[in-house]
Formats: sequence, C-alpha cells, structure tokens
Amino acid sequence: MNKQLELLVNLQGIDREIKRLEDSLKNIPLEIEQLSIPYKQLTEEIEGIKKGIELDNKERREKERGVEIENDRLSKLKEKLSLVKTNEEYSAVIKEMDSVKEKIRGLEDEDLTFMELVEEKQKKLKENEKILGEEKKRVQAAQGEGEVKMEGLKNSLQDKLMQRKSVSELIDKRIFQDYVKVAKNRGGIAVVRFAEGICQGCFLGLSPQLSSEIRKNEELIKCPHCQRMLYWMG
Ligand SMILES: [Zn+2]
Repeated sequence: MNKQLELLVNLQGIDREIKRLEDSLKNIPLEIEQLSIPYKQLTEEIEGIKKGIELDNKERREKERGVEIENDRLSKLKEKLSLVKTNEEYSAVIKEMDSVKEKIRGLEDEDLTFMELVEEKQKKLKENEKILGEEKKRVQAAQGEGEVKMEGLKNSLQDKLMQRKSVSELIDKRIFQDYVKVAKNRGGIAVVRFAEGICQGCFLGLSPQLSSEIRKNEELIKCPHCQRMLYWMG
C-alpha cells in the first residue's frame, strides 16, 4: 500500500477512536444525571410531605387553641349558671353552654382529623426516606464508577491524541490538510474502504476503471461522489 495512504488509514482509525472516547466522556455525566432523576424527585416529594406535616400541625395547634378558648367560655357560663335567678335566664345559659359544647366537639373532631393526616404523612415520610437512602447509595455508586470510567477514558484519549500527533507528522502537509478538510465536511470520516464496487462512505458505485485503480492501493484516489479517500483491503 502507498505509504501515505497507509498513514491516512491509520489516522482515520485513530480519529474514529478519539471520537468514540470523546462521546463516551460526554455521555457518562449525562447518564449519571439521568440516573439521579428519581433521587431528585423523591427529595422534592419528601420536602412536600414535610411541609404538609408542618401545615397540619399548625392547624392542630389552632384547633387546640380554639378548644381552650371554648373551655374558658364554658367555665364562665357555669359560673353564670350558678348566679341566674329566673328560669328564662337559666334556659338561655344552658342553651349557650350546649352550643359551646357543640363547638368544642367540632373542633376536637377536626383536630383528630388533622392528627390522622399527620400520622399518615409521617408513615409515608418514613417509607420515602428509606427509599431515598437506597437511591442515594445507587447514585453515589454510579458516580464513583463514572469517575473511574472517565479517568480511564481520559487516559486512553491522551494516548490516542499522542498517536494522532506522531502519525500526522509523517503525512505530507498538503495531504493532511486535505484529510482534515474532508473529515470536517463529511462527519469526521475522510478515508473509507472501497468494497464490492462501492464507496463505503457514501455507498455509491464507482466506474470499473476507477475501481481497478483503487485496488492497486498505489495512489490517493478520491470518491468522485463524496470526496473521501479510498483504499482497498482485498
Ligand atoms: Zn463516496
């Protein structure tokens, strides 16, 4: 094979590998981000439950304060009852006391309802916190693995970049510049195999005459359709 062509094939292989490593490096943090979504959602959910408990407890305090106020009123009414002189007054106080008692019962019922809500939410909170702990471990493990993986990828990338440099230096400057230009315009692929009469870059057929030239691997021949450089691997 033509030495320059051989170097180009080599360079293309290195560049494909560089691209693969760079993509992996970009993907790992995205994968971890994706993996952390349930953890983040659960954290938000827990915050919501805690806030709900706080509000319910505030309601409970208000109901309890209401009960205290009504109980005070009831005590005063009891005192009043001992001082009444007429049957009419007596009936009026009793009626008022009944209505206060009714109100107290109502407030106590509401308090109980909020208490039950708090209990339910606390149960849910406990469950979620347990799951959150597991999720946290999962995310941390993935982060740890990701970091190790990325470290390895960075090292491999460093090696490939060095290889690229030494190979590039052996290629004629003009040819190298052409390679860079074609790669830039053709999705990073400037050198492709020619097989079964077809350019493996654009998958279009080439003339028999050009085909036999390419098969010799003696000269740099470009695909007339996509401008990529072609080689034959037998
Ligand atoms: Zn082509």
